Amino acid sequence: MVIKKKYDIIIIGAGVVGTITARELSRYDLDILVIEKGADVCSGTSKANSAIIHAGYAAPMGSLKGELSHRGNKAYLKLCDTLDVPFKRIGSFVAAFDTEQEQTLDALLKNGIDRDIEGIEIITGEEARRLEPGLSDKVRAVLHAPTAGIINPFILTFALYENSRQNAVHYHLGTEVTGITRTKGAVTGVVTASGEYKADFVINAAGVYSDTISEMAGEGGVNLNIVKGEYFVSDIAMGLTTSRIVFPAPSKLSKGILVTPTTDGNILFGPTAHVAESKEDTATTQEGLAEIMEKAPRLFPDINFRGMITQYAGLRAKDKSDDFIIAASKKIKGFINAAGIQSPGLTAAPAIADRLLEIVKEEGLSLKKGETFYPARKGALRIIELSPHEIAAAIKKDPAYGHIVCRCESVSEGEVIDAINEGATTTDGVKFRRRAGSGRCQGGFCGPRVVDILSRELDMPMEAVTKNGGESKILLGRMNKGWHK
Ligand SMILES: Cc1cc2nc3c(=O)[nH]c(=O)nc-3n(C[C@H](O)[C@H](O)[C@H](O)COP(=O)(O)OP(=O)(O)OC[C@H]3O[C@@H](n4cnc5c(N)ncnc54)[C@H](O)[C@@H]3O)c2cc1C
Repeated sequence: MVIKKKYDIIIIGAGVVGTITARELSRYDLDILVIEKGADVCSGTSKANSAIIHAGYAAPMGSLKGELSHRGNKAYLKLCDTLDVPFKRIGSFVAAFDTEQEQTLDALLKNGIDRDIEGIEIITGEEARRLEPGLSDKVRAVLHAPTAGIINPFILTFALYENSRQNAVHYHLGTEVTGITRTKGAVTGVVTASGEYKADFVINAAGVYSDTISEMAGEGGVNLNIVKGEYFVSDIAMGLTTSRIVFPAPSKLSKGILVTPTTDGNILFGPTAHVAESKEDTATTQEGLAEIMEKAPRLFPDINFRGMITQYAGLRAKDKSDDFIIAASKKIKGFINAAGIQSPGLTAAPAIADRLLEIVKEEGLSLKKGETFYPARKGALRIIELSPHEIAAAIKKDPAYGHIVCRCESVSEGEVIDAINEGATTTDGVKFRRRAGSGRCQGGFCGPRVVDILSRELDMPMEAVTKNGGESKILLGRMNKGWHK
């Protein structure tokens, strides 16, 4: 086995938890490596969720996820401003239809007040309908939390990736950790197909595989139940059903099927909550989608499901403790779990990173500030967001900005090239960075053009371009030259 360079710290997993932790650690004089088995960052649950930065009232008092989500929510405004990430504090509603649900709202309000959540209140159904006219007239009361918001979770994770790389963090993508090496009760590194990487500290941020990684390290103690959540997505042209995040009153299993706008102007309907068949089971099902079509109209009776353009599913990594497991191993020195990061892990991510920094320090890693740290990152140029004047200036600088390849979302060739320069190597990498393929035709028009540009820019045959790495090939081979004659 080839032994590579030694790092101070290795992070397994480049979801939101791995990338934000890498960025926070990059403030210090450390050699950091992030290893991700997906072809790109944001390959796991961080790309398939409700994209909500929760206000922080939902998790029970005393739980780690409750404490960290409340702190995480507060950090987002500054973080997104610094990294130029789309984030809107649009506020959330939890709707009650009967007396029992009104009591649930009272309990959530009490949590919110105990956590000092700004502006949280219960309003009547009539008051709520004045703010959201499409809301069902059967809604009797609503818990209103104005500090809840929506974010673009892909752009967030890509921004953390770009900014941490700018601050000298190394990434190995398309690389699966298959073992963790130890001597005398201490971690010494990780094993991958491309060699062994050495480090005194290993952070497990492997999402639904965080139980497997914890077992590999000899720590164990993570017992995940994988719960799938399916969604419908509406076209941006359908208009907004709601301008706020609207939940039904929660059950013991989940927050229920919600309706929320996205930062790009789509509407999300979902998620369901059913035990997944496997850790790779992200397929949507007829039953799941039927459940959304039955339950979402209880909140908004006039939903037109003919405006739906796509579906997706994400996997919750729920530990049996029903809480996050963020702790240093007491058995294996240097091994640290950020495991069982179920919802609201996206909200909690900035506070999870802070907690992990405290832990590595407590475990003996010296955190000395580095000479330079570049906190900011400039977001992408998006032709669709520019004025005609600005578009003309962009085209003058580079005519590729005048060549529209995705007609549904008005994405130009220049933007696809920018996405590739930022690290996209697959059609999904381009789609999640610039939205080419996210519109009504779902890549029917731009798909072949994006494959062509990826092939040209990355100097690889078109048949080698994939949707998201591995065997997800788009073109299987070249047709016989004489076939069309
Ligand atoms: C349906 C649903 C809705 C949700 N809605 C919200 C919400 O609105 N708000 C909110 O705050 N939270 C929400 N969440 C939770 C949130 O999405 C997650 O908590 C968060 O994304 C977890 O991030 P992560 O980095 O821990 O995991 P992931 O994003 O899954 O990252 C883990 C990474 O580790 C990689 N990996 C795994 N094994 C290995 C290995 N052996 N070697 C190398 N790499 C490996 C994976 O490929 C993956 O990229 C939701 C979750 C779901 C499923």
